[in-house]
Amino acid sequence: MQPAAADTGIVFVRTDVTGNPRIKATPHQVVDTQLATTIGDGEARIATIEHLMAALSSLGVDNVVVGVDAPELPIMDGSAAPFNYLIRAAGIKTLSAPRRYIRMLEPVTVREGDIEATLSPFEGFRVSYKLHYEHPVFEEHNRRLSVDVSAERFESDIGQARTFGFLAEIEMLQSMDLARGGSLENAVVVDDSRILNDEGLRVPDEFVKHKILDAIGDLYTLGHPIIGAFSGVKSGHSTNNRLVRELLARPHAYEMVTDWVHVEPPVEVRV
Ligand SMILES: [Zn+2]
Repeated sequence: MQPAAADTGIVFVRTDVTGNPRIKATPHQVVDTQLATTIGDGEARIATIEHLMAALSSLGVDNVVVGVDAPELPIMDGSAAPFNYLIRAAGIKTLSAPRRYIRMLEPVTVREGDIEATLSPFEGFRVSYKLHYEHPVFEEHNRRLSVDVSAERFESDIGQARTFGFLAEIEMLQSMDLARGGSLENAVVVDDSRILNDEGLRVPDEFVKHKILDAIGDLYTLGHPIIGAFSGVKSGHSTNNRLVRELLARPHAYEMVTDWVHVEPPVEVRV
């Protein structure tokens, strides 16, 4: 990750491809949402940007150039914690240009069957999520959670939540030569009745918290912090992307503001 000037946005560069194509993270550059959020421009693609995007969002990093020498970001431990730690360790510089926020004025909703995602007016940044799995493991855990997102809450809690998956799905993906690196090192894996990781869960309600982490990352493809509330029911990367595209298509639903004083300012860290 390289520092970047004001108004650069979050820009990814494929350093291993001739010409080093640059792909800016925006809702319309999202080209695939099957297993992760993938951005692309022509032939160049970069997959699994959402956990890094969530860390950048929580730390208030608006401008950065991210070089990637592969078609996918490293999965690390399946959470945003390693990215969050490394960005804090590198330090964050405050630029002189004013920060621009997207302030919600009207609700925007996308629905598909029983899947739903909404952005609505709220004086802060709140992310709520409701999980739905008819499965013994999920019965035992809180499946509904609402979080007022802050850098502190992200670092100690939400950002720690790992990706989760079902053993049968992982075996199927691996038989299709996908998720080859998927293991208990970088995901919480659940079989028909229990969690397979010896250490169990890292934070309480880790499943719903990871869905909140993913939503924070996907919303940040807008390139600006949101003053508003997100609410998701069974939604994933695909619905999240439809929602931010729908928002951009409805300019009456939001305004751009710079003088927002009620939210916590970006964290400034120096080394
Ligand atoms: Zn995720």
